[in-house]
Amino acid sequence: MIIKPRIRGFICTTAHPIGCAAHVNEQIAYVRSQGHIQSDLKNVLVIGSSGGYGLSSRIVAGFGCGAATLGVSFEKAPRQNKTATAGWYNNIAYETSAAGAGLYAVTLDGDAFSDEMKERVIDTLRADLGKIDLVIYSLASPVRQHPRTGALHRSAIKPLGEAVHMKSLHVQRGEVHEVDLEPANEEETANTVAVMGGEDWEFWIEALEKADLLNDGFRTLAFTYIGSDLTWPIYWHATLGKAKEDLDRAAGTISTSLGAVHGQARVAVLKAVVTQASSAIPVVPLYASLLFRVMKDRGLHEEVVHHIHRLFATQLATGVTQRLDDQGRIRMDDIELTDEIQGEVRRRWPLVDTHNLGELADLEGFREDFLRIFGFGFADVDYEADLDPTLGRDG
Ligand code: NAD
Repeated sequence: MIIKPRIRGFICTTAHPIGCAAHVNEQIAYVRSQGHIQSDLKNVLVIGSSGGYGLSSRIVAGFGCGAATLGVSFEKAPRQNKTATAGWYNNIAYETSAAGAGLYAVTLDGDAFSDEMKERVIDTLRADLGKIDLVIYSLASPVRQHPRTGALHRSAIKPLGEAVHMKSLHVQRGEVHEVDLEPANEEETANTVAVMGGEDWEFWIEALEKADLLNDGFRTLAFTYIGSDLTWPIYWHATLGKAKEDLDRAAGTISTSLGAVHGQARVAVLKAVVTQASSAIPVVPLYASLLFRVMKDRGLHEEVVHHIHRLFATQLATGVTQRLDDQGRIRMDDIELTDEIQGEVRRRWPLVDTHNLGELADLEGFREDFLRIFGFGFADVDYEADLDPTLGRDG
C-alpha cells in the first residue's frame, strides 16, 4: 500500500508507519542530545502515551531520565488495506528504540477510563516494575464511559453563557473566517467536565495507591492549557476551562490523599502546540499560527518535545525549585504569555485575514506540524514505497 495523507476536516485518516517512527526517533535524538536529566524517576506511567504531550513525556522520561515507562493509549490497529492510527505506530517505534537502548517500555492499548485498564496496569506493574515514581496524566478524548455509572459522556467544545462570534481558521483551505459558537447548556458542560476533568485522574491514583504501587515521594502531573484572553471565550472561560478547573480541584484532593507516601499531585500549564486534540478546537489553529510566527521570529518557539524536555529538566529534576502560580500549578506557559509575545499576537489578531496569513501567521508551520503528527513530511522517508501497513503484525 502506498500511503498518502487523507485529510478530513481536522483529522488525517491515514498514518505513515515509517514517518511515525521518524517522528518518534527525531524526538529521541533531541532528548539524547540534551544529555542526562538527573532525577529520581525510575518507573513512570504515562496515561495517554501515544501522541502529543504524553508521547514526548514518555520519550523524555525514558531517554532523558533513563526511566522504565509503562504507557496507556487508545489507538486503532491496522488492517491489510487500512493504516493504523498514528499512535499505534508511535507505540511500536518507541518500544523498538527503547529496547535498543535497554529501556523497559510496554504499552497497553485500551480505554484508560475503564476499571479493566486500571487492573491491567496494576497487574503489569506488579509483574514487571513494582512501585512507580511518576504518573503523567495526558489524556485528550471526546468521550468517556463512566466506569461506575456506565453513562457515556461526550464533551462539547463550546462557550459558556452567551454565543460568541470569533475569527477562526480553516487550516486546509487556508481561509480566515468568522464562526458563531453557540453556548453549552448545563448538561453539555457537566459532560465535558466528566470527560476532561479530574475524576478519572483521581480514580487512577486511588487504584494505584490501594494496590500499594506508589513509591515514597511519588508525583503525578496532569496537563492543562490556560492561554490568554484571545482564546478564553472558547477555552478557559468555556466548557474546556470548566473541565480544566476540575483538574485543579482534583490535584488538591489527590495531594491530600498522598500524605502517607509524601507524594504530590500538580497540574502543569503547557503552551499551545499542534496535536490531534488541539487541531479540533475552533479558533485555536488561528491563534497558534499567529503565536508560532511571533515566537519563531524571536527564536522562542518550542516544539512539543522541547517544551516537555524543559518541563522535566527545570521542574522535575533533582534539586530544582518549581515555578508555581498561586494555585500551585507548574507554569510552563511563561514564554507564550509574556507581554511582548501576547502584545504582538494581539496586535495582529484584528489585522489577519486570508490574504495576509502567510505574512502575519505561520500557516505553513501549522500545516507541517499537523502532517508530521501522522508521519508525513519527513525528508528521509520514501513516501512512494509500497508498504504493509500492519508491519507484519496482526494488531
Ligand atoms: P493528543 O490527542 O496528542 O494525545 C491524546 C492521548 O490520549 C493519545 O495518546 C490517545 O491515545 C490517548 N487517549 C485518548 N482517549 C483515550 C482513552 N479513552 N484511553 C486511553 N488513552 C486515550 O493530545 P494532547 O494535545 O497531547 O493533549 C494531552 C493533554 O495536554 C490534554 O490534557 C490537553 O488538554 C493538554 N494540553 C494540550 C495542549 C495543546 O496545545 N495540544 C496545550 C496544553 C495542554
